[in-house]
Amino acid sequence: MEAWRRALDGPVSVSPIAKAGPAHIATLKTFDPPLAALEGRRLRGVERRGKRLLFPTADGELVLLVHLMTAGRLKMLPAGQAAPKTAAFRIEFADRTKLVLTENARKKRAGVWLLEPPAAAAELAHLGPEALGLDAPGLGEILRREARRLHPLLRDQRAIAGIGRAWANEILHAAKLSPYALSTELTDEQVARLAAAMNGELARGLELRERGAGDDRTYRIHNRLGQPCHVCGTPLAQIDFEEHTIYYCPTCQTGGRVLKDRRLSRLLR
Ligand SMILES: [Zn+2]
Repeated sequence: MEAWRRALDGPVSVSPIAKAGPAHIATLKTFDPPLAALEGRRLRGVERRGKRLLFPTADGELVLLVHLMTAGRLKMLPAGQAAPKTAAFRIEFADRTKLVLTENARKKRAGVWLLEPPAAAAELAHLGPEALGLDAPGLGEILRREARRLHPLLRDQRAIAGIGRAWANEILHAAKLSPYALSTELTDEQVARLAAAMNGELARGLELRERGAGDDRTYRIHNRLGQPCHVCGTPLAQIDFEEHTIYYCPTCQTGGRVLKDRRLSRLLR
Protein backbone atom coordinates (compact mmCIF):
# COMPACT_ATOMS: atom_id res chain seq x y z
CA MET A 1 0.00 0.00 0.00
CA GLU A 2 2.84 2.37 0.81
CA ALA A 3 4.25 1.75 -2.67
CA TRP A 4 0.85 2.65 -4.20
CA ARG A 5 0.72 5.78 -2.08
CA ARG A 6 4.13 6.97 -3.21
CA ALA A 7 3.39 6.26 -6.87
CA LEU A 8 0.07 8.16 -6.87
CA ASP A 9 0.83 11.02 -4.47
CA GLY A 10 2.21 13.44 -7.08
CA PRO A 11 0.08 12.59 -10.14
CA VAL A 12 -3.36 12.87 -8.49
CA SER A 13 -2.79 16.47 -7.37
CA VAL A 14 -1.64 17.88 -10.71
CA SER A 15 -5.05 18.77 -12.10
CA PRO A 16 -8.56 19.35 -10.64
CA ILE A 17 -11.22 16.65 -10.95
CA ALA A 18 -13.45 16.98 -14.02
CA LYS A 19 -15.62 13.93 -13.44
CA ALA A 20 -15.89 11.49 -10.51
CA GLY A 21 -17.45 8.11 -11.26
CA PRO A 22 -19.16 6.05 -12.40
CA ALA A 23 -18.57 3.46 -9.70
CA HIS A 24 -19.61 -0.19 -9.52
CA ILE A 25 -22.62 -0.54 -7.23
CA ALA A 26 -20.70 -2.94 -4.95
CA THR A 27 -17.63 -0.70 -4.83
CA LEU A 28 -19.10 2.67 -3.83
CA LYS A 29 -20.06 2.41 -0.15
CA THR A 30 -21.45 5.91 0.41
CA PHE A 31 -23.98 8.09 -1.41
CA ASP A 32 -23.96 11.29 0.67
CA PRO A 33 -22.07 13.42 -0.23
CA PRO A 34 -22.47 12.30 -3.87
CA LEU A 35 -19.39 11.61 -6.00
CA ALA A 36 -20.22 14.71 -8.08
CA ALA A 37 -19.26 16.77 -5.02
CA LEU A 38 -15.64 16.05 -5.98
CA GLU A 39 -15.94 17.71 -9.36
CA GLY A 40 -14.07 20.97 -9.69
CA ARG A 41 -11.96 20.23 -6.60
CA ARG A 42 -8.30 19.35 -6.54
CA LEU A 43 -6.88 16.44 -4.52
CA ARG A 44 -4.08 17.28 -2.09
CA GLY A 45 -2.26 13.99 -2.64
CA VAL A 46 -2.47 10.51 -1.14
CA GLU A 47 -2.13 9.48 2.48
CA ARG A 48 -2.18 5.97 3.88
CA ARG A 49 -3.63 4.51 7.04
CA GLY A 50 -3.06 0.77 7.32
CA LYS A 51 -4.31 -0.74 4.08
CA ARG A 52 -6.52 2.25 3.27
CA LEU A 53 -5.56 5.02 0.89
CA LEU A 54 -6.90 8.51 1.60
CA PHE A 55 -7.31 11.22 -1.01
CA PRO A 56 -8.18 14.45 0.80
CA THR A 57 -9.33 17.40 -1.30
CA ALA A 58 -7.04 20.44 -1.22
CA ASP A 59 -9.83 22.55 0.35
CA GLY A 60 -10.01 20.09 3.27
CA GLU A 61 -13.75 19.49 2.87
CA LEU A 62 -13.88 15.94 1.54
CA VAL A 63 -11.86 12.73 1.80
CA LEU A 64 -12.02 9.92 -0.73
CA LEU A 65 -11.12 6.68 1.04
CA VAL A 66 -10.13 3.59 -0.97
CA HIS A 67 -9.65 0.04 0.32
CA LEU A 68 -8.28 -2.23 -2.42
CA MET A 69 -8.66 -5.51 -0.46
CA THR A 70 -6.84 -8.37 -2.23
CA ALA A 71 -7.57 -7.93 -5.92
CA GLY A 72 -8.11 -4.18 -6.32
CA ARG A 73 -5.61 -2.15 -8.34
CA LEU A 74 -5.33 1.62 -8.71
CA LYS A 75 -3.70 3.18 -11.71
CA MET A 76 -3.16 6.59 -13.29
CA LEU A 77 -3.86 6.51 -17.01
CA PRO A 78 -2.31 9.12 -19.32
CA ALA A 79 -4.56 11.53 -21.25
CA GLY A 80 -6.29 9.82 -24.15
CA GLN A 81 -6.01 6.27 -22.82
CA ALA A 82 -9.47 4.78 -22.33
CA ALA A 83 -10.34 3.28 -18.96
CA PRO A 84 -11.07 -0.45 -19.10
CA LYS A 85 -14.79 -1.25 -19.45
CA THR A 86 -14.56 -3.29 -16.26
CA ALA A 87 -13.28 -0.39 -14.12
CA ALA A 88 -14.95 -0.46 -10.70
CA PHE A 89 -14.39 3.25 -10.16
CA ARG A 90 -12.81 6.13 -12.03
CA ILE A 91 -11.93 9.78 -11.71
CA GLU A 92 -11.17 11.89 -14.72
CA PHE A 93 -9.02 14.98 -14.20
CA ALA A 94 -9.22 18.25 -16.13
CA ASP A 95 -6.00 17.36 -17.99
CA ARG A 96 -7.78 14.15 -19.14
CA THR A 97 -5.59 11.81 -17.08
CA LYS A 98 -7.63 9.25 -15.16
CA LEU A 99 -7.38 7.46 -11.84
CA VAL A 100 -8.88 4.01 -12.33
CA LEU A 101 -9.73 1.26 -9.86
CA THR A 102 -10.02 -2.24 -11.32
CA GLU A 103 -10.74 -5.47 -9.49
CA ASN A 104 -10.12 -8.67 -11.33
CA ALA A 105 -12.24 -10.96 -9.12
CA ARG A 106 -15.69 -12.49 -9.21
CA LYS A 107 -16.63 -11.03 -5.86
CA LYS A 108 -16.19 -7.26 -5.64
CA ARG A 109 -14.54 -6.53 -2.31
CA ALA A 110 -12.66 -3.30 -2.89
CA GLY A 111 -14.43 -0.23 -1.56
CA VAL A 112 -14.62 3.52 -2.18
CA TRP A 113 -16.05 5.93 0.39
CA LEU A 114 -16.56 9.66 -0.06
CA LEU A 115 -16.63 11.22 3.39
CA GLU A 116 -16.41 14.50 5.22
CA PRO A 117 -13.30 14.65 7.44
CA PRO A 118 -15.04 13.82 10.78
CA ALA A 119 -16.65 10.72 9.22
CA ALA A 120 -13.30 9.71 7.73
CA ALA A 121 -11.64 10.08 11.14
CA ALA A 122 -14.35 7.92 12.72
CA GLU A 123 -13.89 5.32 9.99
CA LEU A 124 -10.16 5.13 10.78
CA ALA A 125 -10.37 5.43 14.57
CA HIS A 126 -10.48 1.69 15.18
CA LEU A 127 -7.22 0.97 13.35
CA GLY A 128 -4.19 -0.15 15.35
CA PRO A 129 -0.75 1.43 15.02
CA GLU A 130 1.08 1.14 11.68
CA ALA A 131 3.08 -2.08 11.33
CA LEU A 132 5.94 -0.39 9.52
CA GLY A 133 7.87 1.42 12.24
CA LEU A 134 6.34 -0.48 15.20
CA ASP A 135 9.16 -1.39 17.63
CA ALA A 136 9.53 -4.46 19.88
CA PRO A 137 8.07 -2.86 23.06
CA GLY A 138 5.08 -1.55 21.06
CA LEU A 139 4.52 -4.92 19.42
CA GLY A 140 4.99 -6.74 22.75
CA GLU A 141 2.25 -4.63 24.31
CA ILE A 142 -0.16 -5.64 21.52
CA LEU A 143 0.79 -9.33 21.66
CA ARG A 144 0.28 -9.54 25.42
CA ARG A 145 -3.20 -7.98 25.47
CA GLU A 146 -4.86 -11.34 24.88
CA ALA A 147 -3.88 -14.85 23.79
CA ARG A 148 -4.33 -15.07 20.03
CA ARG A 149 -2.78 -17.08 17.20
CA LEU A 150 -0.08 -15.03 15.51
CA HIS A 151 -1.30 -15.23 11.90
CA PRO A 152 -4.83 -13.89 12.51
CA LEU A 153 -3.52 -11.38 15.04
CA LEU A 154 -1.03 -9.90 12.57
CA ARG A 155 -3.84 -9.52 9.99
CA ASP A 156 -6.24 -7.88 12.44
CA GLN A 157 -6.23 -4.21 11.42
CA ARG A 158 -7.64 -3.17 14.80
CA ALA A 159 -4.53 -4.60 16.48
CA ILE A 160 -1.87 -3.64 13.91
CA ALA A 161 -2.60 -1.71 10.71
CA GLY A 162 -1.13 -2.58 7.34
CA ILE A 163 -0.48 -6.36 7.20
CA GLY A 164 -2.49 -8.61 4.87
CA ARG A 165 -2.48 -12.38 4.39
CA ALA A 166 0.57 -12.51 2.16
CA TRP A 167 2.80 -10.43 4.42
CA ALA A 168 1.67 -12.31 7.52
CA ASN A 169 3.11 -15.42 5.82
CA GLU A 170 6.37 -13.66 4.90
CA ILE A 171 6.81 -12.06 8.33
CA LEU A 172 6.18 -15.21 10.37
CA HIS A 173 8.62 -17.16 8.21
CA ALA A 174 11.30 -14.49 8.61
CA ALA A 175 10.70 -14.53 12.38
CA LYS A 176 10.82 -18.38 12.46
CA LEU A 177 7.52 -18.50 14.34
CA SER A 178 4.54 -20.79 13.88
CA PRO A 179 1.40 -19.15 12.45
CA TYR A 180 -0.49 -20.86 15.29
CA ALA A 181 1.85 -19.75 18.11
CA LEU A 182 0.00 -17.94 20.89
CA SER A 183 0.80 -14.26 21.19
CA THR A 184 1.01 -14.32 25.00
CA GLU A 185 3.49 -17.20 25.03
CA LEU A 186 6.31 -15.50 23.09
CA THR A 187 9.57 -14.80 24.91
CA ASP A 188 11.05 -11.28 24.78
CA GLU A 189 13.58 -12.60 22.30
CA GLN A 190 10.80 -13.93 20.03
CA VAL A 191 8.89 -10.65 20.26
CA ALA A 192 12.05 -8.77 19.23
CA ARG A 193 12.52 -11.22 16.33
CA LEU A 194 8.92 -10.72 15.21
CA ALA A 195 9.25 -6.91 15.33
CA ALA A 196 12.49 -7.08 13.32
CA ALA A 197 10.90 -9.48 10.79
CA MET A 198 7.82 -7.27 10.44
CA ASN A 199 9.84 -4.14 9.72
CA GLY A 200 12.41 -5.97 7.60
CA GLU A 201 9.86 -7.77 5.43
CA LEU A 202 7.60 -4.75 4.92
CA ALA A 203 10.62 -2.61 3.98
CA ARG A 204 11.79 -5.33 1.58
CA GLY A 205 8.34 -5.49 0.00
CA LEU A 206 8.14 -1.72 -0.34
CA GLU A 207 11.51 -1.54 -2.03
CA LEU A 208 10.64 -4.36 -4.47
CA ARG A 209 7.23 -2.84 -5.31
CA GLU A 210 8.82 0.52 -5.96
CA ARG A 211 11.13 -1.16 -8.45
CA GLY A 212 8.05 -2.64 -10.11
CA ALA A 213 8.48 -6.25 -8.96
CA GLY A 214 5.43 -8.52 -9.28
CA ASP A 215 4.21 -11.06 -6.71
CA ASP A 216 6.61 -13.71 -8.04
CA ARG A 217 9.69 -11.77 -7.09
CA THR A 218 8.20 -10.23 -3.96
CA TYR A 219 6.82 -13.23 -2.06
CA ARG A 220 9.16 -16.01 -0.95
CA ILE A 221 6.59 -18.00 1.10
CA HIS A 222 3.14 -16.82 0.10
CA ASN A 223 1.52 -18.90 -2.68
CA ARG A 224 4.52 -21.23 -2.90
CA LEU A 225 3.08 -24.57 -1.77
CA GLY A 226 5.56 -27.41 -2.33
CA GLN A 227 8.40 -25.15 -3.43
CA PRO A 228 11.66 -25.35 -1.46
CA CYS A 229 12.02 -22.95 1.48
CA HIS A 230 14.62 -20.34 0.51
CA VAL A 231 16.37 -20.83 3.87
CA CYS A 232 16.41 -24.62 4.42
CA GLY A 233 15.05 -26.24 1.25
CA THR A 234 12.09 -28.01 2.90
CA PRO A 235 8.97 -27.98 0.68
CA LEU A 236 6.65 -25.22 1.93
CA ALA A 237 3.32 -26.32 3.41
CA GLN A 238 -0.09 -24.72 3.63
CA ILE A 239 -3.16 -24.63 5.83
CA ASP A 240 -6.38 -23.95 3.98
CA PHE A 241 -9.24 -21.87 5.33
CA GLU A 242 -12.49 -20.87 3.62
CA GLU A 243 -11.31 -17.38 2.80
CA HIS A 244 -7.53 -17.64 2.80
CA THR A 245 -4.52 -19.91 3.00
CA ILE A 246 -1.58 -19.82 5.39
CA TYR A 247 1.80 -20.80 3.93
CA TYR A 248 4.76 -21.78 6.14
CA CYS A 249 7.94 -23.85 6.36
CA PRO A 250 7.59 -26.88 8.67
CA THR A 251 11.35 -26.90 9.38
CA CYS A 252 11.93 -23.18 10.00
CA GLN A 253 8.70 -22.43 11.81
CA THR A 254 7.00 -25.40 13.46
CA GLY A 255 9.82 -27.73 14.53
CA GLY A 256 8.97 -30.20 11.76
CA ARG A 257 5.28 -30.39 12.62
CA VAL A 258 2.74 -30.20 9.81
CA LEU A 259 -0.24 -28.13 10.90
CA LYS A 260 -3.76 -29.46 10.44
CA ASP A 261 -5.99 -28.11 7.76
CA ARG A 262 -8.75 -26.77 10.00
CA ARG A 263 -11.41 -26.72 7.31
CA LEU A 264 -10.78 -30.32 6.31
CA SER A 265 -10.54 -31.60 9.86
CA ARG A 266 -13.85 -29.92 10.68
CA LEU A 267 -15.48 -31.69 7.73
CA LEU A 268 -14.02 -35.03 8.72
CA ARG A 269 -14.97 -34.81 12.36
ZN1 LIG B 1 12.69 -23.51 5.95
